[in-house]
Amino acid sequence: MCQHTSIDKIAIPCMNDPYGITTVPVPGRRCPACLERGDTVWVIPGKCCPQCGTPVN
Ligand SMILES: [Zn+2]
Repeated sequence: MCQHTSIDKIAIPCMNDPYGITTVPVPGRRCPACLERGDTVWVIPGKCCPQCGTPVN
């Protein structure tokens, strides 16, 4: 069954295998520098981006 839910977070709509893909919402922020390049890199606030090293607060 696939139900539509209005969730304001990253979520993959409908997966047959809940363990096959990581759907855990990341408790972080997207790196703005990577975002400009079109990459979505999640960074834990206070840490540096693992891709470009930009500190994210
Ligand atoms: Zn980055």
